[in-house]
Amino acid sequence: MRAMALLLVGLLALAGCDDEPADGAADMNPGAEGEGEGEGEGEGEGEGEGEGEGEGEGEGEGEGEGEGEGEGEGEGEGEGEGEGEGEGEGEGEGEGEGEGEGEPVGRAGLFGPGVESFTVEIDYAVGAAPETRREGLLDNRSPWLLFETNALALFGDDPPLLLVPHELEQMEELPADAAPFDDYRGREILDLAEVYRDAPSTAADRSIYVVWINGYYEDNSGRRDTVLGVSLGDTGVIAMFKPVLEGVSNTPMAEQTTLVHEFGHAAGLVNNGLEMVEDHHDSEHGAHCDNRDCVMYWTIESAAGLGNFLGPLLGNDDDPVLFGPECVADADAAAE
Ligand SMILES: [Zn+2]
Ligand SMILES: [Zn+2]
Repeated sequence: MRAMALLLVGLLALAGCDDEPADGAADMNPGAEGEGEGEGEGEGEGEGEGEGEGEGEGEGEGEGEGEGEGEGEGEGEGEGEGEGEGEGEGEGEGEGEGEGEGEPVGRAGLFGPGVESFTVEIDYAVGAAPETRREGLLDNRSPWLLFETNALALFGDDPPLLLVPHELEQMEELPADAAPFDDYRGREILDLAEVYRDAPSTAADRSIYVVWINGYYEDNSGRRDTVLGVSLGDTGVIAMFKPVLEGVSNTPMAEQTTLVHEFGHAAGLVNNGLEMVEDHHDSEHGAHCDNRDCVMYWTIESAAGLGNFLGPLLGNDDDPVLFGPECVADADAAAE
């Protein structure tokens, strides 16, 4: 009964894609944490790299290590490097032994067998509450049905139990002093998650943590005032930038569509953890899809591009699947 905790923090420095307003699954990727699995065998999932150096450092090129994370803008140069202490501190003290279900996992296996539930945990900064209004929507439906429909489209025929809040009371407002800045880098968003995320993603009970920020995304080129949301590497952490979202007409649908896009990144689309059934990777624009009618098309993460995408959807009489067939196929293939 010794459990080993392999802590790895990978590090990844990342990347930065120069030009586009992507949301970047940025890259900080703190790696997996693996606390050792169960009885006595000591492996721990975390495997890892963990060296701490991270390329990334000065040059802003996309890909941070390994799986092609990186896509885009991320933290860009500079940031990220260095941290990553990859220590593998070996022996934990034996807590958690035996079960193994509590250990945080990354996106791998999300669409595979054994996933029983999928929780979307939502926090929001003061003044940045997510849209839950039903007025103006068909049959006064909840805007959150759009996210649910699209999550189910990726989960396929045998989906886990989806636990998605539809009402503000099911979400949590952060303390006033928790998120007081005007601009947030990936590191600061991960710091918030570190403190306020309540539902870790485990092998059977997966989760993402989404925080609505009353401010803007910032990378090495400064404030990105058209970036609607970001998904941070393989952490399952997503930030939504309220002042930008409010600038798009029909903010409830803008928020949902942005969340669908960021969930796609968190899940490993496109070619960023999920293998492609056929090539549809628009590699010039990070982990995006080359189908212009798919929610993973790169322009959707900026305010103007999203407006164009939403136009034809508004007034639709149900909650459409926004992923194109190529992206859905990748998720389906991962289920087998
Ligand atoms: Zn994107
Ligand atoms: Zn697609």
